[in-house]
Amino acid sequence: MPHPTAAFDRLGTETAFEVLARANQLAAEGRDIINLGIGQPDFRTPDHIVEAAKQALDDGQHGYTPSAGIPALRAAVAKDLSDRYDVEVDAGSVLITPGAKPIMYFAILLFGEPGAEILYPNPGFPIYESVIKFTGATPVPIELHESAGFSFDPEQVLASVNERTRLLILNSPANPTGGVVPADQIERLIEGLADYPDVTILSDEIYSRILYGGREHVSLLRYAQIRDRLIVIDGWSKTFAMTGWRMGYGVWPADLFPHAERLAVNSYSCVNAVAQYAGLAALEGPQDDVGRMVRAFDERRQIIVEGLNSLPGFRCADPGGAFYVFPNIEGTGMEAKALQVKMLEEAGVATVAGTSFGHLGEGYLRFSYAASRQEILDAIERIRALKLG
Ligand code: PMP
Repeated sequence: MPHPTAAFDRLGTETAFEVLARANQLAAEGRDIINLGIGQPDFRTPDHIVEAAKQALDDGQHGYTPSAGIPALRAAVAKDLSDRYDVEVDAGSVLITPGAKPIMYFAILLFGEPGAEILYPNPGFPIYESVIKFTGATPVPIELHESAGFSFDPEQVLASVNERTRLLILNSPANPTGGVVPADQIERLIEGLADYPDVTILSDEIYSRILYGGREHVSLLRYAQIRDRLIVIDGWSKTFAMTGWRMGYGVWPADLFPHAERLAVNSYSCVNAVAQYAGLAALEGPQDDVGRMVRAFDERRQIIVEGLNSLPGFRCADPGGAFYVFPNIEGTGMEAKALQVKMLEEAGVATVAGTSFGHLGEGYLRFSYAASRQEILDAIERIRALKLG
Protein backbone atom coordinates (compact mmCIF):
# COMPACT_ATOMS: atom_id res chain seq x y z
CA MET A 1 0.00 0.00 0.00
CA PRO A 2 1.44 3.41 -0.90
CA HIS A 3 1.67 5.82 2.05
CA PRO A 4 1.36 9.51 1.22
CA THR A 5 3.02 11.77 3.78
CA ALA A 6 1.12 12.75 6.91
CA ALA A 7 0.65 16.23 5.45
CA PHE A 8 -2.03 14.80 3.19
CA ASP A 9 -4.17 13.91 6.19
CA ARG A 10 -4.27 17.64 6.89
CA LEU A 11 -5.06 18.85 3.39
CA GLY A 12 -8.66 20.08 3.15
CA THR A 13 -10.89 20.82 0.19
CA GLU A 14 -13.33 23.29 -1.31
CA THR A 15 -16.79 21.86 -0.65
CA ALA A 16 -18.36 24.04 -3.33
CA PHE A 17 -16.88 21.66 -5.91
CA GLU A 18 -18.44 18.66 -4.15
CA VAL A 19 -21.82 20.39 -4.08
CA LEU A 20 -21.39 21.18 -7.78
CA ALA A 21 -20.68 17.51 -8.54
CA ARG A 22 -23.77 16.38 -6.60
CA ALA A 23 -25.94 19.08 -8.23
CA ASN A 24 -24.73 17.98 -11.68
CA GLN A 25 -25.42 14.36 -10.81
CA LEU A 26 -28.99 15.18 -9.72
CA ALA A 27 -29.48 17.26 -12.88
CA ALA A 28 -28.21 14.35 -15.00
CA GLU A 29 -30.84 12.18 -13.32
CA GLY A 30 -33.47 14.62 -14.58
CA ARG A 31 -33.96 16.76 -11.46
CA ASP A 32 -34.50 20.48 -11.95
CA ILE A 33 -31.61 22.04 -10.00
CA ILE A 34 -31.05 25.70 -9.22
CA ASN A 35 -27.34 26.12 -8.62
CA LEU A 36 -26.57 28.78 -6.06
CA GLY A 37 -23.60 26.79 -4.81
CA ILE A 38 -20.45 27.35 -6.81
CA GLY A 39 -19.07 30.89 -7.02
CA GLN A 40 -18.97 31.73 -10.67
CA PRO A 41 -20.71 34.29 -12.86
CA ASP A 42 -23.51 32.78 -14.96
CA PHE A 43 -22.53 34.99 -17.90
CA ARG A 44 -20.56 33.93 -20.93
CA THR A 45 -17.11 35.41 -21.31
CA PRO A 46 -17.56 38.61 -23.39
CA ASP A 47 -17.32 37.97 -27.14
CA HIS A 48 -14.27 40.11 -27.87
CA ILE A 49 -12.27 38.07 -25.35
CA VAL A 50 -13.36 34.78 -26.90
CA GLU A 51 -12.46 36.18 -30.34
CA ALA A 52 -8.96 37.09 -29.13
CA ALA A 53 -8.46 33.49 -28.02
CA LYS A 54 -9.58 32.17 -31.41
CA GLN A 55 -7.21 34.60 -33.07
CA ALA A 56 -4.34 33.42 -30.87
CA LEU A 57 -5.03 29.84 -31.91
CA ASP A 58 -5.07 30.84 -35.58
CA ASP A 59 -1.90 32.87 -35.12
CA GLY A 60 -0.10 29.76 -33.90
CA GLN A 61 0.27 30.63 -30.23
CA HIS A 62 0.64 26.96 -29.46
CA GLY A 63 3.86 26.80 -27.50
CA TYR A 64 5.20 27.45 -24.02
CA THR A 65 5.32 31.03 -22.83
CA PRO A 66 7.74 32.45 -20.25
CA SER A 67 6.90 30.89 -16.89
CA ALA A 68 5.84 34.19 -15.32
CA GLY A 69 3.58 34.99 -18.27
CA ILE A 70 3.69 36.75 -21.63
CA PRO A 71 5.55 40.07 -21.15
CA ALA A 72 2.75 42.10 -22.80
CA LEU A 73 0.24 40.59 -20.40
CA ARG A 74 2.35 41.25 -17.32
CA ALA A 75 2.74 44.85 -18.52
CA ALA A 76 -1.02 45.14 -19.10
CA VAL A 77 -1.72 43.91 -15.57
CA ALA A 78 0.76 46.44 -14.14
CA LYS A 79 -0.87 49.24 -16.15
CA ASP A 80 -4.38 48.17 -15.14
CA LEU A 81 -3.43 48.26 -11.45
CA SER A 82 -1.60 51.58 -11.83
CA ASP A 83 -4.65 53.08 -13.53
CA ARG A 84 -7.13 51.69 -11.04
CA TYR A 85 -5.24 52.56 -7.85
CA ASP A 86 -2.96 55.38 -8.92
CA VAL A 87 0.14 53.53 -7.74
CA GLU A 88 3.30 52.26 -9.41
CA VAL A 89 3.34 48.57 -10.25
CA ASP A 90 6.35 47.00 -11.95
CA ALA A 91 5.48 44.46 -14.66
CA GLY A 92 8.38 42.40 -13.31
CA SER A 93 6.49 41.86 -10.05
CA VAL A 94 3.46 40.29 -11.77
CA LEU A 95 3.18 36.50 -11.92
CA ILE A 96 0.47 35.14 -14.24
CA THR A 97 -1.00 31.91 -12.87
CA PRO A 98 -3.60 29.29 -13.91
CA GLY A 99 -6.42 30.91 -11.93
CA ALA A 100 -5.75 32.97 -8.85
CA LYS A 101 -5.55 29.97 -6.53
CA PRO A 102 -1.85 29.12 -7.04
CA ILE A 103 -0.90 32.55 -5.69
CA MET A 104 -2.37 31.72 -2.29
CA TYR A 105 -0.88 28.24 -2.44
CA PHE A 106 2.57 29.61 -3.22
CA ALA A 107 2.37 32.38 -0.61
CA ILE A 108 1.34 29.95 2.13
CA LEU A 109 4.04 27.44 1.08
CA LEU A 110 6.63 30.21 1.32
CA PHE A 111 5.86 30.91 4.97
CA GLY A 112 4.15 27.85 6.38
CA GLU A 113 6.13 25.41 8.51
CA PRO A 114 5.70 23.83 11.93
CA GLY A 115 5.94 26.54 14.57
CA ALA A 116 4.86 29.32 12.22
CA GLU A 117 1.48 31.01 12.71
CA ILE A 118 -0.63 32.26 9.82
CA LEU A 119 -3.66 34.50 10.32
CA TYR A 120 -6.59 33.91 7.98
CA PRO A 121 -10.24 35.00 7.78
CA ASN A 122 -12.84 32.70 9.35
CA PRO A 123 -15.37 32.24 7.86
CA GLY A 124 -13.24 32.55 4.74
CA PHE A 125 -12.16 30.90 1.52
CA PRO A 126 -11.50 27.30 2.66
CA ILE A 127 -8.23 26.88 0.78
CA TYR A 128 -6.39 29.25 3.14
CA GLU A 129 -6.93 27.06 6.20
CA SER A 130 -6.42 23.88 4.19
CA VAL A 131 -2.99 24.85 2.85
CA ILE A 132 -1.87 26.40 6.16
CA LYS A 133 -2.53 23.05 7.85
CA PHE A 134 -0.87 21.18 4.97
CA THR A 135 2.38 23.05 5.60
CA GLY A 136 2.27 22.21 9.30
CA ALA A 137 1.84 25.85 10.31
CA THR A 138 -0.77 26.86 12.88
CA PRO A 139 -3.88 28.54 11.45
CA VAL A 140 -4.97 31.50 13.60
CA PRO A 141 -8.46 32.72 12.70
CA ILE A 142 -9.29 36.36 12.09
CA GLU A 143 -12.85 36.25 13.34
CA LEU A 144 -15.47 37.76 11.08
CA HIS A 145 -18.84 38.38 12.69
CA GLU A 146 -22.20 39.23 11.20
CA SER A 147 -22.67 41.91 13.88
CA ALA A 148 -19.59 43.74 12.51
CA GLY A 149 -20.71 43.50 8.87
CA PHE A 150 -18.34 40.54 8.49
CA SER A 151 -15.40 42.88 8.86
CA PHE A 152 -12.67 42.47 11.48
CA ASP A 153 -11.61 44.42 14.51
CA PRO A 154 -8.04 45.65 13.75
CA GLU A 155 -7.10 45.71 17.44
CA GLN A 156 -8.25 42.13 17.87
CA VAL A 157 -6.26 41.05 14.80
CA LEU A 158 -3.16 42.84 16.07
CA ALA A 159 -3.57 41.15 19.44
CA SER A 160 -3.17 37.80 17.63
CA VAL A 161 0.10 38.82 15.95
CA ASN A 162 3.31 37.73 17.68
CA GLU A 163 6.90 36.82 16.85
CA ARG A 164 5.76 33.49 15.35
CA THR A 165 3.38 35.15 12.89
CA ARG A 166 4.72 34.84 9.35
CA LEU A 167 1.75 35.65 7.14
CA LEU A 168 -1.55 37.50 7.50
CA ILE A 169 -4.27 36.82 4.92
CA LEU A 170 -7.01 39.34 4.12
CA ASN A 171 -9.86 39.05 1.62
CA SER A 172 -12.08 42.02 0.81
CA PRO A 173 -14.64 41.94 -0.79
CA ALA A 174 -14.98 38.57 0.82
CA ASN A 175 -15.98 35.06 0.02
CA PRO A 176 -18.26 33.69 1.55
CA THR A 177 -19.82 36.69 3.27
CA GLY A 178 -19.75 39.47 0.66
CA GLY A 179 -18.29 41.64 3.44
CA VAL A 180 -16.17 44.66 2.60
CA VAL A 181 -13.57 45.93 5.07
CA PRO A 182 -13.80 49.72 5.45
CA ALA A 183 -10.67 51.77 4.66
CA ASP A 184 -10.22 53.03 8.23
CA GLN A 185 -10.06 49.47 9.56
CA ILE A 186 -7.46 48.52 6.97
CA GLU A 187 -5.46 51.62 7.86
CA ARG A 188 -5.53 50.88 11.58
CA LEU A 189 -4.33 47.36 10.88
CA ILE A 190 -1.51 48.57 8.65
CA GLU A 191 -0.42 51.12 11.26
CA GLY A 192 -0.26 48.40 13.89
CA LEU A 193 1.70 46.09 11.59
CA ALA A 194 4.54 48.64 11.56
CA ASP A 195 5.57 46.97 14.85
CA TYR A 196 5.84 43.60 13.08
CA PRO A 197 7.98 44.20 9.98
CA ASP A 198 8.58 40.48 9.44
CA VAL A 199 4.91 39.68 8.83
CA THR A 200 4.03 39.33 5.14
CA ILE A 201 0.51 40.31 4.06
CA LEU A 202 -1.44 38.35 1.46
CA SER A 203 -4.38 40.42 0.21
CA ASP A 204 -6.85 38.40 -1.85
CA GLU A 205 -8.55 41.05 -4.01
CA ILE A 206 -10.17 38.72 -6.55
CA TYR A 207 -13.52 40.57 -6.12
CA SER A 208 -11.93 44.03 -6.43
CA ARG A 209 -14.27 45.10 -9.21
CA ILE A 210 -17.50 43.66 -7.80
CA LEU A 211 -18.70 46.27 -5.33
CA TYR A 212 -22.09 47.88 -4.66
CA GLY A 213 -23.62 51.03 -3.26
CA GLY A 214 -20.98 53.36 -4.70
CA ARG A 215 -18.19 51.64 -2.77
CA GLU A 216 -14.65 51.90 -4.14
CA HIS A 217 -12.13 49.14 -3.73
CA VAL A 218 -9.42 49.80 -1.17
CA SER A 219 -6.43 47.92 -2.54
CA LEU A 220 -3.58 47.29 -0.15
CA LEU A 221 -1.31 48.29 -3.04
CA ARG A 222 -2.13 51.88 -2.08
CA TYR A 223 -0.14 51.62 1.15
CA ALA A 224 3.50 52.32 0.27
CA GLN A 225 4.70 51.40 3.78
CA ILE A 226 3.84 47.69 3.28
CA ARG A 227 4.67 47.24 -0.40
CA ASP A 228 7.91 45.41 0.38
CA ARG A 229 5.95 42.70 2.20
CA LEU A 230 2.65 42.65 0.34
CA ILE A 231 1.38 39.96 -2.04
CA VAL A 232 -1.83 40.84 -3.92
CA ILE A 233 -4.10 38.30 -5.60
CA ASP A 234 -6.45 39.26 -8.41
CA GLY A 235 -7.43 37.80 -11.76
CA TRP A 236 -9.91 37.32 -14.54
CA SER A 237 -12.20 34.59 -13.18
CA LYS A 238 -14.83 36.75 -11.52
CA THR A 239 -14.38 40.14 -13.20
CA PHE A 240 -14.61 38.87 -16.77
CA ALA A 241 -16.67 35.70 -16.22
CA MET A 242 -13.63 33.56 -17.04
CA THR A 243 -13.54 30.92 -14.29
CA GLY A 244 -12.96 28.05 -16.73
CA TRP A 245 -10.09 29.74 -18.55
CA ARG A 246 -7.90 29.54 -15.45
CA MET A 247 -6.35 32.99 -15.48
CA GLY A 248 -5.16 34.80 -12.38
CA TYR A 249 -2.19 36.76 -11.13
CA GLY A 250 -0.22 37.87 -8.13
CA VAL A 251 1.82 41.00 -7.49
CA TRP A 252 4.88 40.13 -5.42
CA PRO A 253 7.57 42.04 -3.52
CA ALA A 254 10.87 41.93 -5.45
CA ASP A 255 12.53 39.63 -2.89
CA LEU A 256 9.78 37.04 -3.01
CA PHE A 257 9.04 37.03 -6.73
CA PRO A 258 11.87 34.65 -7.73
CA HIS A 259 10.61 32.05 -5.25
CA ALA A 260 7.08 32.26 -6.61
CA GLU A 261 8.34 32.05 -10.19
CA ARG A 262 10.36 28.99 -9.25
CA LEU A 263 7.29 27.29 -7.80
CA ALA A 264 5.57 27.99 -11.13
CA VAL A 265 8.44 26.39 -13.09
CA ASN A 266 8.40 23.44 -10.72
CA SER A 267 4.67 22.81 -11.06
CA TYR A 268 2.91 23.92 -14.27
CA SER A 269 5.69 25.63 -16.35
CA CYS A 270 3.42 28.36 -17.70
CA VAL A 271 -0.23 29.24 -18.20
CA ASN A 272 -2.03 28.14 -21.37
CA ALA A 273 -0.83 30.56 -24.06
CA VAL A 274 -4.23 31.07 -25.69
CA ALA A 275 -5.84 31.93 -22.34
CA GLN A 276 -3.14 34.55 -21.77
CA TYR A 277 -4.00 36.27 -25.06
CA ALA A 278 -7.64 36.23 -24.03
CA GLY A 279 -6.61 37.81 -20.73
CA LEU A 280 -4.74 40.51 -22.59
CA ALA A 281 -7.82 41.34 -24.67
CA ALA A 282 -9.88 41.47 -21.48
CA LEU A 283 -7.63 44.14 -19.96
CA GLU A 284 -7.00 46.16 -23.08
CA GLY A 285 -10.49 45.96 -24.62
CA PRO A 286 -13.74 47.72 -23.72
CA GLN A 287 -14.72 47.42 -20.06
CA ASP A 288 -18.48 47.88 -20.54
CA ASP A 289 -19.22 44.21 -19.94
CA VAL A 290 -17.72 44.38 -16.45
CA GLY A 291 -20.11 47.20 -15.53
CA ARG A 292 -23.04 45.39 -17.13
CA MET A 293 -22.36 42.23 -15.11
CA VAL A 294 -21.88 44.12 -11.85
CA ARG A 295 -25.17 45.98 -12.38
CA ALA A 296 -26.91 42.65 -12.95
CA PHE A 297 -25.37 41.20 -9.76
CA ASP A 298 -26.47 44.30 -7.86
CA GLU A 299 -30.07 43.85 -8.96
CA ARG A 300 -30.00 40.17 -8.00
CA ARG A 301 -28.40 41.01 -4.67
CA GLN A 302 -31.40 43.12 -3.77
CA ILE A 303 -33.80 40.36 -4.83
CA ILE A 304 -32.04 37.64 -2.87
CA VAL A 305 -31.56 39.69 0.31
CA GLU A 306 -35.25 40.60 0.34
CA GLY A 307 -36.28 37.04 -0.53
CA LEU A 308 -34.15 35.40 2.16
CA ASN A 309 -35.30 37.88 4.79
CA SER A 310 -38.89 36.90 4.00
CA LEU A 311 -38.18 33.26 4.92
CA PRO A 312 -38.93 32.14 8.49
CA GLY A 313 -35.72 31.43 10.39
CA PHE A 314 -33.48 33.34 7.97
CA ARG A 315 -31.78 36.69 8.59
CA CYS A 316 -29.72 38.08 5.74
CA ALA A 317 -27.31 41.03 5.89
CA ASP A 318 -26.84 43.18 2.81
CA PRO A 319 -23.38 42.46 1.37
CA GLY A 320 -21.18 45.24 -0.01
CA GLY A 321 -19.36 43.20 -2.64
CA ALA A 322 -18.68 39.88 -4.43
CA PHE A 323 -21.74 37.82 -5.40
CA TYR A 324 -22.49 35.97 -2.20
CA VAL A 325 -24.94 36.35 0.63
CA PHE A 326 -24.34 34.61 3.92
CA PRO A 327 -27.68 34.47 5.75
CA ASN A 328 -27.93 33.45 9.36
CA ILE A 329 -30.10 30.32 9.51
CA GLU A 330 -30.08 29.63 13.26
CA GLY A 331 -33.79 30.43 13.41
CA THR A 332 -34.56 27.34 11.33
CA GLY A 333 -33.28 25.19 14.18
CA MET A 334 -31.12 23.26 11.73
CA GLU A 335 -27.37 22.93 11.44
CA ALA A 336 -25.82 24.41 8.32
CA LYS A 337 -24.70 21.14 6.73
CA ALA A 338 -28.06 19.43 7.32
CA LEU A 339 -29.88 22.38 5.80
CA GLN A 340 -27.53 22.43 2.79
CA VAL A 341 -28.25 18.72 2.17
CA LYS A 342 -32.01 19.08 2.70
CA MET A 343 -32.26 22.05 0.36
CA LEU A 344 -30.36 20.28 -2.42
CA GLU A 345 -31.94 16.86 -2.08
CA GLU A 346 -35.53 17.95 -1.39
CA ALA A 347 -35.84 21.34 -3.06
CA GLY A 348 -33.16 21.09 -5.74
CA VAL A 349 -31.46 24.27 -4.52
CA ALA A 350 -27.65 24.03 -4.28
CA THR A 351 -25.97 26.17 -1.60
CA VAL A 352 -22.89 25.67 0.58
CA ALA A 353 -22.97 25.25 4.39
CA GLY A 354 -21.19 28.01 6.28
CA THR A 355 -19.08 25.39 8.04
CA SER A 356 -17.33 24.72 4.72
CA PHE A 357 -15.67 28.10 5.29
CA GLY A 358 -14.44 27.46 8.81
CA HIS A 359 -15.93 26.68 12.21
CA LEU A 360 -17.26 30.22 12.61
CA GLY A 361 -19.55 29.57 9.64
CA GLU A 362 -21.91 27.36 11.69
CA GLY A 363 -25.38 28.88 11.64
CA TYR A 364 -24.94 30.27 8.11
CA LEU A 365 -25.37 29.20 4.51
CA ARG A 366 -23.65 30.67 1.48
CA PHE A 367 -25.75 31.49 -1.55
CA SER A 368 -24.04 32.57 -4.75
CA TYR A 369 -26.46 34.88 -6.53
CA ALA A 370 -24.62 34.75 -9.85
CA ALA A 371 -27.81 33.20 -11.24
CA SER A 372 -30.76 34.58 -13.13
CA ARG A 373 -33.42 36.67 -11.40
CA GLN A 374 -36.02 34.01 -12.08
CA GLU A 375 -33.84 31.24 -10.66
CA ILE A 376 -33.34 33.27 -7.49
CA LEU A 377 -37.07 33.92 -7.10
CA ASP A 378 -37.85 30.23 -7.72
CA ALA A 379 -35.18 29.12 -5.24
CA ILE A 380 -36.72 31.29 -2.52
CA GLU A 381 -40.17 29.81 -3.13
CA ARG A 382 -38.80 26.27 -3.12
CA ILE A 383 -37.12 26.89 0.23
CA ARG A 384 -40.30 28.45 1.62
CA ALA A 385 -42.22 25.34 0.56
CA LEU A 386 -39.86 23.19 2.68
CA LYS A 387 -41.50 24.79 5.72
CA LEU A 388 -38.37 25.10 7.81
CA GLY A 389 -38.45 26.68 11.23
N1 PMP B 1 -9.94 33.79 -3.86
C1 PMP B 1 -11.23 33.82 -3.52
C2 PMP B 1 -11.64 34.59 -2.33
C3 PMP B 1 -12.18 33.14 -4.29
O1 PMP B 1 -13.46 33.18 -3.94
C4 PMP B 1 -11.74 32.39 -5.40
C5 PMP B 1 -12.69 31.61 -6.29
N2 PMP B 1 -13.81 31.10 -5.71
C6 PMP B 1 -10.38 32.39 -5.70
C7 PMP B 1 -9.51 33.10 -4.92
C8 PMP B 1 -9.82 31.56 -6.82
O2 PMP B 1 -10.02 32.11 -8.06
P1 PMP B 1 -9.59 31.32 -9.37
O3 PMP B 1 -10.81 30.58 -9.84
O4 PMP B 1 -9.16 32.39 -10.31
O5 PMP B 1 -8.49 30.39 -9.01
